[in-house]
Amino acid sequence: MIKFQGKGVYGAVASGKISVFKRQDIQVKREKIEDTKAEMERLENAKSQAMEQLQEIYEKALVEVGETNAQIFEIHMMMIEDEDYNDSIAEMINGQNLNAEYAVAITADNFAEMFSAMDDAYMQARAADVRDISNRIIACLTGSGSSKEHSDEMMIICADDLAPSETVSLDKDKVLAFVTAHGSSNSHTAILARNMNIPAIIGLGEKFLEAVKDGDIAVVNGFTGEFILHPDKETIAAAEKKRADELEKRQLLQKLKGKENVTLDGTKINIFANIGSVDNIGSVLLNDAGGIGLFRSEFIYLENSDYPSEEEQFRIYKRVLESMAGKKVIIRTLDIGADKQCDYFNLNKEDNPALGLRAIRLCLDRPEIFEVQLRALYRASVYGKLGIMFPMITSTSELEEIFALCDKVKKDLEADGIEYSEETELGIMIETPAAAIISDLLAPMVDFFSVGTNDLTQYTLVCDRQNPHIERFCDTHHEAILRLIQMSAENAHKHGAWIGICGELAADTALTERFLRMGIDELSVSPSFVLKVRDTVRNIDLRV
Ligand code: PEP
Ligand code: MG
Repeated sequence: MIKFQGKGVYGAVASGKISVFKRQDIQVKREKIEDTKAEMERLENAKSQAMEQLQEIYEKALVEVGETNAQIFEIHMMMIEDEDYNDSIAEMINGQNLNAEYAVAITADNFAEMFSAMDDAYMQARAADVRDISNRIIACLTGSGSSKEHSDEMMIICADDLAPSETVSLDKDKVLAFVTAHGSSNSHTAILARNMNIPAIIGLGEKFLEAVKDGDIAVVNGFTGEFILHPDKETIAAAEKKRADELEKRQLLQKLKGKENVTLDGTKINIFANIGSVDNIGSVLLNDAGGIGLFRSEFIYLENSDYPSEEEQFRIYKRVLESMAGKKVIIRTLDIGADKQCDYFNLNKEDNPALGLRAIRLCLDRPEIFEVQLRALYRASVYGKLGIMFPMITSTSELEEIFALCDKVKKDLEADGIEYSEETELGIMIETPAAAIISDLLAPMVDFFSVGTNDLTQYTLVCDRQNPHIERFCDTHHEAILRLIQMSAENAHKHGAWIGICGELAADTALTERFLRMGIDELSVSPSFVLKVRDTVRNIDLRV
């Protein structure tokens, strides 16, 4: 048994086999294709191959496990022919010029999320089936044979570090845990692990990376940050027990579904969810979030190899709004730069990217890109209750520039006869000390504030959120941060704006009472934390 100590970033336990993440081992990539007819033919060939494989498996299963058990493969064959499933894939290939592998993978995700969110246990079980058939088709498309042999087992992914785009591109159904040699707990990769509900440890060091090999067994404890390589039987049994206990605790929290976020003295608060992709919506609904408090739209750009078009973005925003059926959805505009780099933006190399041309600065520097996103957002606004939120604001003049662009986009839409909702709320992130300090000037200009505590902490305490060596100086409960939040809350309310918190601190239940006392109106957290925060709120009494 070899033990390594890192920092747990998502509290859960897992045990299983290791898969060492290799960069060249690219999973399904999104690509633009020219010849849609040829791509459809590739798809049809792959589907026929998959059908042949399934027919063979079905016949073998009939002999080995009997008709009832073999039926699942008949269902798989029917699913490959399903009209809605095929329409979705064809639409992505023909309508969006996307490669077949990506179209199949995304359709699989969408259908699986939809099935998982259903009440009926039989339909929920179909989520695994749709992923299974899709993996088989993808394996046929890429020429890697039947996907069955290498797709079924869930693995502990070990890596030096994972970029946000790499983390999102992993098939989360095959990931038991994320374990990295480097990285920091406020990094976007850690945030994604939390969003995906996957145990994760970071900062295990170089020796860990040298020690792990594909197929080795390990235990991951995301609570303590301990990673045990080659565990003995007792350690594995203890980990499995802990996992079962946690599952039970989660199930207990399920009883809070449908209950109000109300304190013992009757104070109410909204608890929303943070997402990075439409694929997270199933989890938002399953965890009973009251809305979406932060949709990090930059992941749409990060997952692409070129600028996503207005139409592509519109479809995504529309889908999010429609899925939330009238509940509030706050979409943050492009927050690229710093650790979130996109090659096709061709950004200049900067000495201090966190202080550089990022987020709103980049959008104001390249209004032609920003306008495409704003047009897509306003077009989608009629499909639900939309809030548009701007990141990294430091001054009122930035807001004036943004509003001028919004007005231009709305006028253009009117001229084109395209509807948008006048009810669309506009808000800003309070994630720079400057924004908090002038929150009295900013509040009258907007409908809401949302405090981005991840960056607010980085900029207030002068602590690079990507640097694991300074974590001990990065006290997220520092009075300076809490006072900036308090000041922003007072100024928001003075001017009729509402205020939420969408940084990771929103899920820190040690601070929930303090936030309630400040009058915070909304806490937006990873979907898996919604019920835990609700539980905390329901046990607080502000009269004492
Ligand atoms: C934040 O800074 O707190 C935030 C929510 O934005 P991000 O983590 O995406 O920078
Ligand atoms: Mg931020």
